[in-house]
Amino acid sequence: MTTETKTPVTRALFDEVMVPNYAPGKMIPVKGEGSRVWDQEGNEYIDFAGGIAVSALGHAHPALVSALTEQAQNLWHVSNVLANEPMLRLAKKLTDLTFADKVFFANSGAEANEAAFKLARRYHWEHSGPEKNEIIAFNSSFHGRTLFTVCVGGQAKYREGFEPAVDGIRHANFNDLASLEAIISDKTCAVVMEPIQGEGGILPATQEFIEGVRALCDKHNALLIFDEVQTGVGRSGALYAYQKYGVTPDILTTAKSLGGGFPIGAMLTRGDIAKSLTIGTHGSTYGGNPMGCAVSEALLDIVSQPEVLKGVEDKAARFRKHLEDINAKHGIFKDIRGCGLLIGAELVDEWQGKSKDFLNAALEHGVMVLVAGPNVVRFAPSLIVEDELIDQGMAAFAKAVDQLVAG
Ligand SMILES: *Cc1c(COP(=O)(O)O)cnc(C)c1O
Repeated sequence: MTTETKTPVTRALFDEVMVPNYAPGKMIPVKGEGSRVWDQEGNEYIDFAGGIAVSALGHAHPALVSALTEQAQNLWHVSNVLANEPMLRLAKKLTDLTFADKVFFANSGAEANEAAFKLARRYHWEHSGPEKNEIIAFNSSFHGRTLFTVCVGGQAKYREGFEPAVDGIRHANFNDLASLEAIISDKTCAVVMEPIQGEGGILPATQEFIEGVRALCDKHNALLIFDEVQTGVGRSGALYAYQKYGVTPDILTTAKSLGGGFPIGAMLTRGDIAKSLTIGTHGSTYGGNPMGCAVSEALLDIVSQPEVLKGVEDKAARFRKHLEDINAKHGIFKDIRGCGLLIGAELVDEWQGKSKDFLNAALEHGVMVLVAGPNVVRFAPSLIVEDELIDQGMAAFAKAVDQLVAG
């Protein structure tokens, strides 16, 4: 097929041919390099959105491009009827770098969580009996968009209209140990939490809370699952946020930054727990796909370097300084929080509900940012974004805020 036969693309085509579950912005990006993106008209943007905490090394990082192209010239897919080299090398790397002994590969965060929830049930079905099947999650948590994961997630709006819901799921309040203590019981098979709630508004767990959840799980013989789909792979300044907290889960899920833009997810766990997923009990056609695993391997080699992780902390401080300067001028943020390069700026009461206005104004000033709910502006840039680009992009963001405040 020659290029002349390709359909011309405008934003209007989205409304014509796409299911209307998204509301993408007006510009259509066509190229990215590091933390810069260009649209169809050649306008340049600085990317602090990172494809929602995915593009950990920015766009088209040479090491990832070369891992992907080399793998693409050799072997694309075999399915799990056979093993493949990148999958096994990546699993080895992930187990060397974490508490885990075993890995299950999926294609997304939701699927990694689906595997975690199924494993937790199956493990206790086998060891404790079918009564121990309850999963406890936290209000305002997010765990994905499959039916099981929206039911576990703590945001009712994502379940609305999709009932009947999956049974055996309860919710407690985040950072409120008493509310977990009130519902955890010997029927609980697992407690799942994000160490830092992402979609829910960039809310870090307190040290006391995360330690308390671990202790309650131990007391009731429940598995502790950390959903590190958003917080994992260097974003917190540690490879995984659990390492920063010093609290180890029994099962951990990771996706988003794991592939740096190539779809991949994984569930990590200990050997004794993994045993419950015996042959044929779970699977995924693409899970462990050689191309995704080859990219992820190259990405982990870079992100796991101590100087890259240290850089995350330094760059996070630089972002926060800019946000504090903006706040000193306008007083529009009631809280600037997060962990590493997952940063949330919560709007003061007069601006509540308007986070999307900040995203749109930033885009008009050539900066891509995110929201985390209606009240929080979120930044999830590349972990290696250059300091000069942080300064340049935050100066543009400051102008966008000036303009919004001026009306
Ligand atoms: C994004 C996200 C998911 C879902 O990941 P998908 O790849 O979109 O399925 C799950 N959990 C958390 C914490 C997330 O941020």
